[in-house]
Amino acid sequence: MNVLVLNAGSSSLKFQVIATDPDRIRQDTDERLCRGAMERIGGEAIVTVETKSGPRQKFTAPIKDINAGLDFLLRWLVSDQSGIPEVRNLSDIQAVGHRVVHGGEVFQESVLIDDKVIAGIEECIDLAPLHNPTNLRGIRAVRDLIGRDTPQVAVFDTAFHTTIPEQAYLYALPYHLYRRHRIRRYGFHGTSHRYVAYRYRMLRGISRDETNVITMHLGNGCSATAIRSGRSVDTSMGMTPLEGLVMGTRSGDLDPAILTLIATKEGMTAHGVESMLLTQSGLLGISGLTNDMRVLQEELKDHDDRRVRLAIEIFSYRARKYIGAMLASMGGAEAIIFTGGIGENAPDIRARICNGLEWAGVQIDDVRNQQTRGKQADIGVEGSKLPVWVIPTDEELLIARDTVRCVLGLPHPA
Ligand code: ADP
Repeated sequence: MNVLVLNAGSSSLKFQVIATDPDRIRQDTDERLCRGAMERIGGEAIVTVETKSGPRQKFTAPIKDINAGLDFLLRWLVSDQSGIPEVRNLSDIQAVGHRVVHGGEVFQESVLIDDKVIAGIEECIDLAPLHNPTNLRGIRAVRDLIGRDTPQVAVFDTAFHTTIPEQAYLYALPYHLYRRHRIRRYGFHGTSHRYVAYRYRMLRGISRDETNVITMHLGNGCSATAIRSGRSVDTSMGMTPLEGLVMGTRSGDLDPAILTLIATKEGMTAHGVESMLLTQSGLLGISGLTNDMRVLQEELKDHDDRRVRLAIEIFSYRARKYIGAMLASMGGAEAIIFTGGIGENAPDIRARICNGLEWAGVQIDDVRNQQTRGKQADIGVEGSKLPVWVIPTDEELLIARDTVRCVLGLPHPA
């Protein structure tokens, strides 16, 4: 089955076509036929695409909205230009899987999309006003352009975290706010945390029930999850993806009274402050330079800039503190897993986070750590009490596999 995986953002559309089916899933032989992204939709969009055989292509095209973006993508996919022999007609795309950000308390796993599911995603718009509407636009665009007969599946960022118990998901606010507005921790990056936990248990040859790990997704957005018996029992992101770790441009945790203080002192609205916490804070805010960890590390090496050093130190310290919190919340773990752009590719950051966790049994092997970039590996010292792994995430693969399972009515094992 050729599955088109779509991740529709406000001005971007990321896509992959993955050939998979139950046999391929079992044998781990799914095939990525192409991957790419359209950025800056709304004007002259930048399109990058890569197929399994051809070189990476980059070009621009005027694309006014998601519908136009999908139309462009579908035409390209079936054209000779794409060089994908498996996709010659639209009927060669047998299903579409969507990343949907917020599934609220309604969606506990991936689902086949029908009108009821669309209404359910609409109900969650209040919880994710920026993301869910664009995800819905993607779903409707597929109905318009490929047709209603092609099955579509929604895979939610929040679904993996619906197993978090009440004591971890409720905030200490007046309880009626939860009842009235569903204000609680939902958690995000669920597909990534679930994928790396699944990979880990495959690598170790253990069952889901035996999987007790802390997963650290460190990319532009960052989150930590405590996974006990294969299920999420706590996570650092909250009602929205703003809580928890220091991120590229997001502040993560802070004293909520600071919001009013900033608004008063700086003459800003509540929305203005929130937007600052989302887009001007984190690594960017502290360093005053960039949200890009790679650039910060180069800058630190070349100029030893004080604020750049601070940004890296605060980022690493917060991540270490959360590992401690997650260890306590789940009653000890059997491994720590790093993933995401930073988690997979930045050995120095992993070392900074792990140095200071010796009390918990963490001991990084410096050589193995330095040699591990973008590939899976155990980077702990042989025999250390709490092993540390790097496992590259692959959310699109999990979305494609969930899509196949939902379309065929199979259970979700991962
Ligand atoms: P997103 O959350 O947007 O999917 P990614 O998971 O791709 O983002 O992570 C982006 C982050 O990973 C950026 O801060 C980038 O600098 C960092 N990163 C990627 N490669 C490296 C590297 N080799 N060294 C350090 N940081 C890296």
